[in-house]
Amino acid sequence: MTDVLVVGAGCSGLAAALRLARAGVRVRVLEARDRVGGRTLTRWLDDGTQLDLGAQWIGPGQDRVQALVRRYALDTFPSAAVGAPVVMWDGVRRDAAPDVAARVVDLLDGYAGRLDPAAPWTVPEAARWDETTLGDWLAGTAPDPVTARYVDRLLAGGLLATSASKVSVLQMACYLRSGGGAAALLAMAGGAQQDRIVGGPAALAEAMAAGLGPGVVRLSTPVVAIEQHDAGVLVRAETERFEAAAVVVAVPPTLAGRLRYVPALPALRDGLTQRMPMGSALKVHAIYPQPFWRADGWSGVATCSDGPITETVDSGTPTSPRGVLTMFSYGTAANALRAMAPSARATALLDALAEIAGPTARQVEEVIDHDWSADPWTRGCFSGALTPGSWSEYGPWLRAPVGRIHWAGTETAVRWTGYLDGAIEAGERAADEVLTGIPART
Ligand SMILES: Cc1cc2nc3c(=O)[nH]c(=O)nc-3n(C[C@H](O)[C@H](O)[C@H](O)COP(=O)(O)OP(=O)(O)OC[C@H]3O[C@@H](n4cnc5c(N)ncnc54)[C@H](O)[C@@H]3O)c2cc1C
Repeated sequence: MTDVLVVGAGCSGLAAALRLARAGVRVRVLEARDRVGGRTLTRWLDDGTQLDLGAQWIGPGQDRVQALVRRYALDTFPSAAVGAPVVMWDGVRRDAAPDVAARVVDLLDGYAGRLDPAAPWTVPEAARWDETTLGDWLAGTAPDPVTARYVDRLLAGGLLATSASKVSVLQMACYLRSGGGAAALLAMAGGAQQDRIVGGPAALAEAMAAGLGPGVVRLSTPVVAIEQHDAGVLVRAETERFEAAAVVVAVPPTLAGRLRYVPALPALRDGLTQRMPMGSALKVHAIYPQPFWRADGWSGVATCSDGPITETVDSGTPTSPRGVLTMFSYGTAANALRAMAPSARATALLDALAEIAGPTARQVEEVIDHDWSADPWTRGCFSGALTPGSWSEYGPWLRAPVGRIHWAGTETAVRWTGYLDGAIEAGERAADEVLTGIPART
C-alpha cells in the first residue's frame, strides 16, 4: 500500500518523504544503512563532547535547513572562532592571503554571477568554460604559482574536495553561484560555517525521520534494482521487493549509477552518472584537553597553500572544555594520506598541524575521523561534481525524470548544491514533481 518509494534516508530522501506524506501520499523510504542521515554522523566523546564527523555547519541564506531546525525545535550554537585566522602562504605564516588571491577569486565570482545555476550550460561561454580546467585557467590568470596553488586548494579543495586540474571553470562557477558566491561559502560568521546544531545535523535527520511516523523508514534495506512497467515501479532490495507508482532516488548520482535499471536508463542519464565522481575529503578531528591555541590569539582557522592539510578549524563546543582542532585534506593529498597506515597518517597530519599550531599540537589525546570514501553508501565527500566538459553534454539530465523515476540528492540542487540545504531543496523539488506529475523524458 505504497504510492511512492524513496531510495535513501539522507536529508534529501527524508525531505522528499515529508513533503509527500504531508500531501497525503503513502510513502516508504528504503535505506541501506542501519541509521538515517547519510552524510551526517555525530560521535560523542565520553565527556559528552559533540563531534560532527560528516556535515557540521549551517549558515545564513540556507532557508530550508534553518526552517527545519526551527520546526523540530533543535538548538544551535555559533561556531567557535576566538581570535584571528592565519594563512600559511608558501611556508610563511601570515594574517591573510595577499590581495591578489582575492582578485582571482573575484574573477570567478564574476563568472558565477553570469550563469543560471539551474542551467549553467546556457551561458554563452559555457562550452569554453566547461572544457577549460580550473587548473589551466589559474595557470593563465594567477600572477604566480603560489597564488594559483592557494586558490586551487581554497576553492577546488575546500568546496569540491578535489583539485583544480579535475574540474572545469564552469563547474566551479556553478558551485559558487549555487551557494551565493565565494564569501558566503567560505566565511565562518556570516557564511556557510556560521552555526552548528546541538546533536549535529544527524539530530536533524533523526527528527525528520521521526516526523514521518513509525514504519515509514525501512533501515538496512539496500536497493539493488529499479524496474519500470506500465502500471508502476518495482524496486528490488537485496532480499525483498517493493511496488509503487513512482520512485524518488535520493542517493549521490555515482551510487545511483550502480543500481540496475529495467529498462536501461537513457544513454545520457547513465553517462551523467559516469561523470560525476564524489569529492575526496578527509576530515580529521584532533582532540586536546583544552583549546590551547586560543591563548595565543589564534582562532584555529588556517588555510594553507601547501602540505597535507588545506584547512583547519576550531570545532570545540560551548558545553565542553575539550579542544577540538579539525583538519581537512583534499584530493591528491587526501588520497596520499589514505594510502598510509593509520598511525603513519596520524603522524603526518600532526606534523603538519604542528607547523601551523606549534609543538603542542602533537600532544593530542585522540585523532578521530570517518573516511567517507571508504564508506560503501557514500563513497566520497562532500558531494559529487561533474568532470570537465560534462555540464554541456550531460547537465540537462541531472534532474530530468526518467519515466517514473525522479532524482533527488544534494547534487541535484539548484541552491546550496553539496550542502544540507541543497539536499532538502532537491528532495522537496522531486516530491513536487511526483505530486504534479510533470511530463517525463523517456
Ligand atoms: C565530512 C563532510 C562534511 C560536510 N560538511 C557540511 C557542512 O558543514 N554543511 C553542509 O550543509 N553540508 C556538509 N556536508 C554535505 C552534506 O552532508 C550533504 O550535502 C548532505 O548530507 C547530502 O544529503 P543527501 O540526502 O543528498 O545524501 P546522503 O546524505 O548521502 O544520503 C543518501 C542516503 O542514501 C543511502 N543509500 C545509498 N545507496 C543506497 C541504496 N542502494 N539503497 C538504499 N539506500 C542507499 C545512504 O546510506 C544515505 O543514507 C558535508 C559532508 C561530509 C561527508
